[in-house]
Amino acid sequence: MSCRYNFSAGPAILPKEVLEQVQSELIDWHGTGMSVIEMSHRGKQYLPILDEAENDLRNIFSIPKNYKVLFLQGGAITQNFMVPMNLLAGRSASYVASGYWSKRTYNDAQPFENIHLAASSESIDFIKAPDASEWKYSTSDAYVHFCMNETIHGVEYFDVPESIKVPLVCDMSSNILSRPMDIDKFGVIYAGAQKNIGPAGLTLLIVRDDLIDFADKKTPTTFNWKIQSDNKSMINTPSTFSIYVAGLVFKWIEKNGGLKMIEKKNIEKADYLYKYIDSSSFYYNNIDKNNRSRMNVPFRIHDDELTMKFVAEAEEQGLYQLKGHRLVGGLRASIYNAMPMEGIEALVEFMEIFEKKYQ
Ligand SMILES: *Cc1c(COP(=O)(O)O)cnc(C)c1O
Repeated sequence: MSCRYNFSAGPAILPKEVLEQVQSELIDWHGTGMSVIEMSHRGKQYLPILDEAENDLRNIFSIPKNYKVLFLQGGAITQNFMVPMNLLAGRSASYVASGYWSKRTYNDAQPFENIHLAASSESIDFIKAPDASEWKYSTSDAYVHFCMNETIHGVEYFDVPESIKVPLVCDMSSNILSRPMDIDKFGVIYAGAQKNIGPAGLTLLIVRDDLIDFADKKTPTTFNWKIQSDNKSMINTPSTFSIYVAGLVFKWIEKNGGLKMIEKKNIEKADYLYKYIDSSSFYYNNIDKNNRSRMNVPFRIHDDELTMKFVAEAEEQGLYQLKGHRLVGGLRASIYNAMPMEGIEALVEFMEIFEKKYQ
């Protein structure tokens, strides 16, 4: 195995072609004599980079015209208070806890008033996402918040709840752009870029335009969706380099057949890995089959003592960052869009060899 594959949960693998393009134009972008890193964010060279990134994203993700796209900073976690500050307007809101991240979002919203738990799967260790039919919320809620893919627990929703009568706010950090989505089923979508979009330092936010103007008056300008939108995400300096790289990733998706093709490959990759894990008596994954994440595959060895050996020996074979999150232990393979099928095959081949050696 001479190839190297990076299974990090984030910051994570990016398409090699994109990194090569970044490398080739890093010092002198399109003959301007400047690196993108060195350009004024309001200059005539940079503005088209931002516009093109937004247009390409709208195109591949089929974002309707009545949705704004914002390029923010602060990571997904900063939205844990930006969402209530921008949307609550004195009302209540309900939160679904389907894993570590969405539970943290619920906890982070506690300083605000009238924040309720809609459903939680914590009592069953988050092995199954609470079905939308079990979500408790009020029709007077400003919104219901949920996380589409729990990066640590490996729990994903595949259907967008249709029955919820208030706007859905969704943390899509680790499965955004992994498949086509009906954007108009959501009120707000946000995602930290460092999982499936590009470098850290950029947070993407997609918001329906009738939800953009509820911000509390105390909201700082950089955190105010409306003010950011009115200023093209440039009320201050945006994360210029991350936006540029994200734009190249959007073009890469388009060139590779768009999200339909990406989805097909993601299904093949995840199926191949889960099938092997299920067929083995050495490894296991106990997530409900309807909620098994296509992006983050946690698995364990029945003999937990072998976990660190697995990580070390995998690394020797060029298979990196397979250690599970420190909160849950075990192993985890994050297999985002940029992970080729060859990476999954190499992982499974290694898992077979390791199993034979230690079973
Ligand atoms: C990584 C992650 C976060 C945290 O993102 P930051 O950008 O570090 O704030 C939040 N939610 C989900 C689902 C994640 O995967």
